[in-house]
Amino acid sequence: MTDPRRRIPRTDVLLADPRLADAARRIGTPLVKAAVTAAQAGARAGEVDVERIADHALAALPATASGLRPVLNATGVLVHTNLGRAPLSAAALDAVHAAGGTTDVEFDLDTGRRARRGRGALGALAEAVPDAQAVHVVNNNAAALLLCATALAGGKEIVLSRGELVEIGDGFRLPELLAATGARLREVGTTNRTTVADYAAALGQDTGFVLKVHPSNFLVTGFTSGAEVADLAALGVPVVADIGSGLLAPDPVLPAEPDAATLLRAGAALVTASGDKLLGGPQAGLLLGRRDLVEALRRHPVARALRVDKLTLAALEATLRGPAPPVRAALRAEPTGLRDRAARLAGELADRGVDARAVDSVAVVGGGGAPGVELPSAAVSLPAGYASRLRAGDPPVVGRVERDRCLLDLRTVEPAEDGRLRDAVLVATP
Ligand SMILES: *Cc1c(COP(=O)(O)O)cnc(C)c1O
Repeated sequence: MTDPRRRIPRTDVLLADPRLADAARRIGTPLVKAAVTAAQAGARAGEVDVERIADHALAALPATASGLRPVLNATGVLVHTNLGRAPLSAAALDAVHAAGGTTDVEFDLDTGRRARRGRGALGALAEAVPDAQAVHVVNNNAAALLLCATALAGGKEIVLSRGELVEIGDGFRLPELLAATGARLREVGTTNRTTVADYAAALGQDTGFVLKVHPSNFLVTGFTSGAEVADLAALGVPVVADIGSGLLAPDPVLPAEPDAATLLRAGAALVTASGDKLLGGPQAGLLLGRRDLVEALRRHPVARALRVDKLTLAALEATLRGPAPPVRAALRAEPTGLRDRAARLAGELADRGVDARAVDSVAVVGGGGAPGVELPSAAVSLPAGYASRLRAGDPPVVGRVERDRCLLDLRTVEPAEDGRLRDAVLVATP
């Protein structure tokens, strides 16, 4: 009798399997070859049936040529930076797909000449915030601040409160970013209290602008006070307001969260914000405000290094013009509807023998804004051991472990995904 391992087909024979050949056309030969090699090794180790090597390789193939995997966010954190922040709307995804090839991003099809890059997205942003005289878009909010500091405070001072020297996350500190441009930071006030007089005393020939930073990921409570944008604007220097979250107009669900329209009306010269937090769009930095300042930013040489890609422009325009993106829907979801979904899912799982129950839960906006705001939610509660098994699944599901239970919070799961969530739990059930 021959050792079955000697019957392992050669790589070129396996790659000729029509299914694997098709996959190679889709995602490229190297990835398919790697899966085939791994399956052959499995067969040599006696772990893979020699007759089923091609099946095995096929099952192990990644869905796309990118290693990034779609994940179900059941954390209850609406804007989860580690999970890519805002999921794009279907309209935005369609727009990205359409713009992915050659596109008229900077070309006028009527005249056959160069056109203003990203005019569609810029037009949509300007329409969404009529209080802005002009708008500009860069790679992210950090880039927006970098551009402001470079173009408006090069060799000058940025005046800001000691209570607003913020670390955004993963060691990224706004004051360090600003100082890296060569602008000098002029800190005023204290951690908990800064008055208009503190700012006024620091202003002078060297002032580039006053910066107001929204503390988007922490709260200072107790004996506190800060200066309003309106009062600072009255001091006669440009006020740049970093609102972080990207609300363009007031949102009744988040009354304490600043928005671009209100601050511009209060006199902010410029507002900066992220595109992929509460706006629910792609990673981008939005700049809105005074025409002369926006022009100065746009024409600064550094602007070119911060310029956004056509995919970003497509997704941003579709987010602004299209139906509400998932983050907005998640923000608005009614707790009763979430409880119904949790009860239905937990019931279906319990029927299949899973120790699942529906529980009330608390979701949050996340590092993207609205610190301290609790969004009433509902979750499917499972034994804690599910957490790692669900992450290893396909699609991976990320929940959160609380008091030794794995909670799958439904506020961050689109209702259309409930079936996939249930199936993922069943597959992860030992
Ligand atoms: C998130 C945030 C930033 C950084 O924005 P990115 O788009 O991630 O660069 C800056 N400032 C504030 C207040 C923020 O909340």
